[in-house]
This record gives sequence, structure tokens and C-alpha cells, in this order.
Amino acid sequence: MFGRRFTLFTVMGFEIRADPSWLVIAALIVWSLSAGLFPLFFPELPTATYWLMGLAGAFGLFFSILFHELSHSVVGRRFGMEIEGITLWIFGGIAEMTRDADRPRTEFLMASAGPASSFLLAGVFYLLAVGGTLVALPVSVVGVLGYLAWLNLILAIFNLLPAFPLDGGRILRSALWPRFGVVTATRISAFAGSVFGWLLIGLGVLAAVAGNIVGGVWWVLIGAFIRFAAKASLRHFISTRLLSDAQVEQMMTPNPPPIAPDTPIARFVSEYVYAKDGSLYPVGQNGKVQGIVDIDSVHKVPRSQWATRTVGELTQAVTKDAIIDPSMDAVRALEVLQRSGRRSLLVSRNGAIAGTVSLDDLDRYIRRKAALGDTDSKDEDGSFGVRGRSGGQGEEESQPLG
Ligand SMILES: [Zn+2]
Repeated sequence: MFGRRFTLFTVMGFEIRADPSWLVIAALIVWSLSAGLFPLFFPELPTATYWLMGLAGAFGLFFSILFHELSHSVVGRRFGMEIEGITLWIFGGIAEMTRDADRPRTEFLMASAGPASSFLLAGVFYLLAVGGTLVALPVSVVGVLGYLAWLNLILAIFNLLPAFPLDGGRILRSALWPRFGVVTATRISAFAGSVFGWLLIGLGVLAAVAGNIVGGVWWVLIGAFIRFAAKASLRHFISTRLLSDAQVEQMMTPNPPPIAPDTPIARFVSEYVYAKDGSLYPVGQNGKVQGIVDIDSVHKVPRSQWATRTVGELTQAVTKDAIIDPSMDAVRALEVLQRSGRRSLLVSRNGAIAGTVSLDDLDRYIRRKAALGDTDSKDEDGSFGVRGRSGGQGEEESQPLG
């Protein structure tokens, strides 16, 4: 789902990152608060005061979202869930889990923690605003506090929509889980997510037609996002299920013969890139591996030089993060692939190369397993897989928890 993110800071052991889209949103928020909302509700203040209020409001929004996501993360960690970090982006924040909760109770508590924390903040900001009025604090300060109370209330209620993967959708799933099993519970919740997505799109169109174009477009975007997230989360859930209980060994491409470093790039392209699966190949001679070559590195050489230049020039050293053990769980391997942004990993047994495993390999395994009668796992449009349809580096598959 994300492109290049940058790390802001670490709090309570969780890495807080921001998507570049967040910067645009932060600027838009400051502007819309300073030039729109605050002048409307608190007229006749100096312009500089509005900008200070706008900055304070945006900072409070940032804090509120972070507090919400941290609550999910802290409860998740308490139950042994692995939280990769928190990413702020255009629609708020996401606590990124590498896998789903394994019990309805965990899911319920973890999902509820977010809206509960937002309700709590709404109450705290409300009391501060009331107290501020009583002790006659400036209207600018009370105004920002009142805004943050409203904001947290809206945040809590919006996240409680029973639209998977929003918090409310997860709560719905945890409620259906004991009765229908996790697969059906996830399907129903994801379907509800899809329906709510359409509902928001419809409301947005109505609002735009009625004249509220900016608000309308915003609702349409959020509706489209929920629909996309519902599908992506369901696909991720099914893929992970089909991969569970399997090891890397079962799906890797075994013993790829090393490519000689003096092989011309043109021959590497025709004999490996086009003809074989995977995207990573060992390079070496006489069975000894000197490094690896990734098909992405071919782009760096102009096509006209493919006949004369060699694979040796593209060879990279084998780094530890590119090697896994054949006994590793397939789900774990998928996580490693997604986290590293790589499309292939080297599989090594006792220091010797045993094979390579790529997203394609995992994907093929998932599709075949689904084709062999795990019909329960069929996606609405009959597609499965770990790679998604939107390309990217597979990162869109990490579990969003809004
Ligand atoms: Zn949440």
C-alpha cells in the first residue's frame, strides 16, 4: 500500500513512519483549519492566531491518530502479536501487523482498543475545553481543545463502522468467528466492508451533486479506499491460510545451477529471465557461488550492450537478509519477502545453496492449493495470490488496522 516511507521516531518500541502523502495532508489540514474551520466558528480573531490554532489543531490530530494506533499496538503486543510499526498516511494511521489474530478474543480486544482510546481522548479534550472556559482561557485555546474533542469523537465513531478492515469490521469478525469459523466470518466482514465502501461512495456523489464538492470527493475517496482495503485484506487472509502448515522447502525452486560470471547479459535474459521462474539466481563457477544476480539489475544496462557485457558486472554479494532456511514456515517467508521489498530469497541449508524462493513460487503454491478443492478460499472474483493486482513490491499485503 505504501511507497517510500520515512521514519519519524520510535515510541514504546514501535517505529513511527510517515508516507509522503502524509506531508501533503498535514499541510492541507493546517490550511483548512486556519483559513476555514476556525474563522467560521471563532470570528474576528487576528489572522496569525488562526494559523497558530491551525498548527496546534493539526498537531493535536497527529497526536490523536498516533494515540489510537498505539493503543492497538500495545494491546496487540500484550497478546503476542507482531507489530511492524505504525505508518501515517493520507487516510490517517495504520498499525501494521504481520499476521491476523489467531483467536476471536485477541481480535476483539485489539480492535476495540483503538475506538476506546479515541472516546477517552474525546472526553479528556472535552473536559479540558469546559475547564478552559471556566478559568477564562483565550477563545483560541478553548477552540482548539473543543475541535480535538469533536475530532476524536468522529474518529472513534468512523472506525466503529462494521466495515472490515476498519476496527468495527474486526469487531464484527470476532463476533461471528465462534459461530461461523474464521473464514466465513472474514468473508462476511469483508463483504460488509465492500457494502459500506459503496455506501460512502454513493453518499459522496449525492453530497457533490448537492453542491458540497470537496466533501463529496473526500467521501468517494474514503469509500473507494475501504473497498480496496476490504478486498486486499481478504486476499491476504486467504493466502496466509493456504500457506500455513507449509515450509519453504515445498515451494522453492531447488538447486539452481550457478550462472557463470562471464555469461553475456543477452544470454542470461533469454535463458533465465524469460525461461525460468523467479528473479534471483546464484552466480558462480564449478558449483561455487560467488554472489547473486537479480533480474531487476538488468535494467541498469542499456539493451544495446547486453551482447557484450556480462552477468559478472551485475553480481551482488550475498547478504544475510537475502538468505532463509528451507525449514522456515512459508507464511514467515512471505513476511520476510514483503518486509525486505525483495521478490526472491536464497534458500540455504548448512551454508550450501539449496534453492531460491520467490513471490511467484509462493503464488503458484497458493493457486494450486486453492485449485485442489480448497474452494472455501475462493475470492469473489476467483483470484488469489500474494502479489496482488496492483503490482508494487507486495507491501500492500501487510495487514492494515485503521
Ligand atoms: Zn483503529
